[in-house]
Amino acid sequence: MTSAQPRLQMRETVSETLAAMENQQPVAIVVGAGPSGLATAACLKHLSIPYIILEREDCFASLWKKKYSYDRLHLHLAKQFCELPHISFPSTYPTYVPKTDFLHYLDEYVSHCQISPLYKRSVESAIYDGGSEKWDVKAMNLSSGEIEEYSGRFLVVATGETADAFVPDVERLNTFTGEVNVVSREMVLPAIASTKANVVVFENGKSHPFDTIVFATGFKRSTNKWLKGDDYLLNDNGIAKASFPNNWKGKKGLYCAGPARRGLYGAAMDAQNIANNIKMQLLM
Ligand SMILES: Cc1cc2nc3c(=O)[nH]c(=O)nc-3n(C[C@H](O)[C@H](O)[C@H](O)COP(=O)(O)OP(=O)(O)OC[C@H]3O[C@@H](n4cnc5c(N)ncnc54)[C@H](O)[C@@H]3O)c2cc1C
Repeated sequence: MTSAQPRLQMRETVSETLAAMENQQPVAIVVGAGPSGLATAACLKHLSIPYIILEREDCFASLWKKKYSYDRLHLHLAKQFCELPHISFPSTYPTYVPKTDFLHYLDEYVSHCQISPLYKRSVESAIYDGGSEKWDVKAMNLSSGEIEEYSGRFLVVATGETADAFVPDVERLNTFTGEVNVVSREMVLPAIASTKANVVVFENGKSHPFDTIVFATGFKRSTNKWLKGDDYLLNDNGIAKASFPNNWKGKKGLYCAGPARRGLYGAAMDAQNIANNIKMQLLM
């Protein structure tokens, strides 16, 4: 079995995580510990495939725990379409699962499947090395500021569809004295020309003072900034080129989980397909 291992600046946490994996060397690197990354990790674990999972935030499911979800949020699809592989929702859960229950489910999922993401690791580059036939991944350790290097035969991109907030180019936005927020909906105020102090100037020449600007401009994916040599799996916007359910498999051991606009149901299917395919490759 080809091995993957961190090579530079090994911090204790990395060593501990690897040791905790029963001294096996991970062969797969999963980037992102949202539901897609967690589902992939669970499926790899289920098939006894060693892996590591890198997450730039300090928690798993950061989108749900601290970013763009509000307290009263419920899953908008019935619960049977939102379960991750191998563990069902408790039967006591309502059809449309509230956010708090979903987070409790994810906590149990991570604990039961013994998933230990390496947190505060922001992946900066991933390049396939044709010589070693491995993916070389560089991640910034956001605690120490050091760049850590990992290599693995398989790379799973699970960085989601909402990786980075998109803030439009507005003249002198940095001088706006109020608050600037981004939410996950379409643009509603397209005609801001510039700002000055707390005053917003619109393209029609009118201006008004505001305390806050909420950009409802959605998100952009940053995968193409760090994933090099992939011109077949993801498009420039980080969305799978092939349509569901054929979206998850690239070439040279590259996979993606989640970015086919099929929500948790799609993520669960991708994760199972990826783990099964990796197992098959390892047995060949
Ligand atoms: C408000 C809201 C409600 C939703 N409701 C539903 C629903 O009811 N049903 C449904 O099926 N879907 C729903 N979705 C869709 C949503 O896409 C999924 O729920 C799910 O969060 C997607 O999981 P993911 O793991 O693919 O992506 P994410 O949850 O976005 O996770 C990606 C992870 O990758 C990490 N990451 C990104 N870039 C890097 C990097 N360079 N290095 C390291 N880590 C990185 C991020 O920090 C993040 O933790 C909802 C989405 C939102 C925003």
